[in-house]
Amino acid sequence: MSPDRTRLHIAVQKSGRLSEQSLALLKSSGLRINQGGKHRLSARAENFPLDIMFVRDDDIPTFVAEGICELGIVGQNVLAEYALGLAKPRIEEIARLGYGRCSLKIAAPEKLAGFQIEMLAKQRIATSYPRLLQRFLDSQGIEAETVTMRGAVELAPRLGIASFVCDLVSTGATLEANGLAPVADVFDSEAVLVRTRQPLDGAHAEKIDALRTRIDGVIATAESKYIVLNAPESALAAITAILPGADAPTVVPLVGRPGHVAVQAVCQESVFWETLERLKGAGASAILVMPIEKMMM
Ligand code: ATP
Ligand code: ZN
Repeated sequence: MSPDRTRLHIAVQKSGRLSEQSLALLKSSGLRINQGGKHRLSARAENFPLDIMFVRDDDIPTFVAEGICELGIVGQNVLAEYALGLAKPRIEEIARLGYGRCSLKIAAPEKLAGFQIEMLAKQRIATSYPRLLQRFLDSQGIEAETVTMRGAVELAPRLGIASFVCDLVSTGATLEANGLAPVADVFDSEAVLVRTRQPLDGAHAEKIDALRTRIDGVIATAESKYIVLNAPESALAAITAILPGADAPTVVPLVGRPGHVAVQAVCQESVFWETLERLKGAGASAILVMPIEKMMM
């Protein structure tokens, strides 16, 4: 079956750590997705010309590089490992998505005391990311042997396959459960939206821009808040300086209260209780913080 070329195609992890949030992101972007059963290989957005292909995360870069899917959602770790094996870039990262955060780290047996990077020299390091690891070792001027494993990397030291591992870590619980402790950071990662570098016709490019604008809006609204407060005019400069990630707030006079104004602003960073206390300390009153449902910049 050859894909319908009038529609866009996005490759998304079928089942794993990125699946749920990737689908949720597309749905928050206003796409009505007819997902069908759990075992479906693809799904169709009913109100946007987009088909979703569910694949293994490791296959996503290939799908996108070949242009089978114009778009994909994948971890930067998988993307970078793939890209390091190519002579020239075939995939472009177009948005960071803010989830799937993890770090590729070198870990050593907990009992190993006083780790120093030189201790990796001539040692065997097990990893699923041999190219990222090699780049790191080169940058440190260390010669070591990388042992490529597809999974269960954290078992390598116990099995005597390697002395160290280089694996993805988010909380560190898996390492700890295997008697390992992180000793060096190799690569920080989050989920990203990518597009193919294969030439696309104008209609496809326009659809990508439209989808991207929506996704950018969803990401921007996730943390953003709308703040309204009253303030004496004399405190305006101090108050605007406290508002997190707000540009040019709207300032309107308050009827019957000369010298006082209402301030309205979109804050693109988290607003904490501590921020409100500082605003109050600077002279603000009647402070309201409201969620934003949709935003288009
Ligand atoms: P697949 O069956 O699709 O090949 P997988 O087992 O290789 O799945 P997952 O474990 O589901 O992959 O991880 C997918 C992505 O989630 C990783 O490539 C990484 O970008 C991200 N991720 C976030 N936190 C972690 C973590 N603690 N361990 C592994 N991956 C993580
Ligand atoms: Zn995988």
